[in-house]
Amino acid sequence: MSLSVRLRLAVLVGGLLASFLAVSLMAVWLPQQVQGLLKTVYADRVVPLSQIKAVSDAYAVTVVDTLQKYRDGAVRADAAAALLQAAVSHADEQWQAYLQTYLTEHEQQLVREVQPRLEQAALAAAALVAKLNHDDRPALNAFAQQRLYQTVEPLTQSLQTLSTLQQTVARQAYEHSVQVIERGQQVVVLLCALVMGLGAWAGLRLARSVTQPLHEAVRLTEAVASGALQTPIEARGPQEVGQMLQAVERMRVALVERADRDALTGLLVRRRFDELAQAERERSGRLRSHFAVLLLDLDHFKQVNDRHGHAMGDRALQVTATALQGALRGIDHVARYGGEEFAVLLPGADIAAAGRVAERIREAVATATAGLMQGTDTVTASIGVAACQPDDDFSLAGLMARADAALYDAKRGGRNRVVLGEARQRVALDQPVEQPN
Ligand code: GH3
Ligand code: MG
Ligand code: MG
Repeated sequence: MSLSVRLRLAVLVGGLLASFLAVSLMAVWLPQQVQGLLKTVYADRVVPLSQIKAVSDAYAVTVVDTLQKYRDGAVRADAAAALLQAAVSHADEQWQAYLQTYLTEHEQQLVREVQPRLEQAALAAAALVAKLNHDDRPALNAFAQQRLYQTVEPLTQSLQTLSTLQQTVARQAYEHSVQVIERGQQVVVLLCALVMGLGAWAGLRLARSVTQPLHEAVRLTEAVASGALQTPIEARGPQEVGQMLQAVERMRVALVERADRDALTGLLVRRRFDELAQAERERSGRLRSHFAVLLLDLDHFKQVNDRHGHAMGDRALQVTATALQGALRGIDHVARYGGEEFAVLLPGADIAAAGRVAERIREAVATATAGLMQGTDTVTASIGVAACQPDDDFSLAGLMARADAALYDAKRGGRNRVVLGEARQRVALDQPVEQPN
């Protein structure tokens, strides 16, 4: 399964789990909210209503008690009337206070309808007491009972109204709770959708931020593998991908280095030398500057192998390479051009300067290999020199051919010598290099 598919699956599963968690949390949180709300409703509204009911009950009890006491002769008529009036105004005071503190406009309206009935009851009770004061007792007992009934009856009605009121409040609280639950459910659904959406968005971005640089890394690595070694690799993407690309870049540079270097001598290989020489040819054409090449071939090298063994031949090749490098400037290039053949590129050098360098190299090779082998054998070199002047229009191949011809001349002329290709001047071993005119 590819990385991008795995990441997408992870995002999906993560999103589902997050939503499940959110729903579970809301399932705990929502009932708590509703419970809290119901508690508030009962504390603030239903309880006060029952207190109002208690006020009415107390009032009814006071009326009945007062009448009873009066009938039993425990209180006089005017005292009983005063008690009843006091009960009414006490109840009324409490009612007003509760009304304003706890009830809505609608509920207050309902209570206001109850109030006149209570007042009516109180007036009836007071009238009864006044009448009892004047009329004879047995006849009035029946009358008192009847009036008492008439007095308590509006109270009963009032209490029924209050009970209806309580039911209304409870129903309102219930409806409110249902609304809160429904709104809560909508919030849960919205939150889940939001969490899912955000999760999916973040997940996909994460997946892309990983997979895109990885695809790029694969493309670049494949390019390197297929031989496009010259294209530098930029380290882009998340830290780990960037580190991987840096490693690939180091690998590419190492490969380029290795591909450009000869394993035995560490000098440039022929292909790289030709690339550099071609670039120098173009540069000198643009800038109208000099540059020269040397072709060097070791003399009778087959004999070196034959007499001293192949390993000694290899050693001589390495020593020659070191001598060549030691005799050159930093901007010069030297390559192992064939088996025991070397090439040197001298930017900015004209034929005379190149001849001097060639002579220095020839001496350096002879010096470096002296004493390497048993006996008096040394390794000598023949060198052909060719230079490109600002007005020359021949190709690099033409220049190399001229250097090769000069080398051939050096071999034919007796070896261990430098020949300047342009002037075709042979330089003897012990003679200084002649300058071309
Ligand atoms: P001259 O160039 O002076 O005409 O004679 P030569 O003997 O050098 O010429 P030739 O081209 O016939 O021989 C070159 C020899 O270089 C042949 C080969 O065995 C030897 N040679 C080439 N490459 C290597 C190498 O990597 N190691 C060793 N030890 N010898 C090598
Ligand atoms: Mg050769
Ligand atoms: Mg040779």
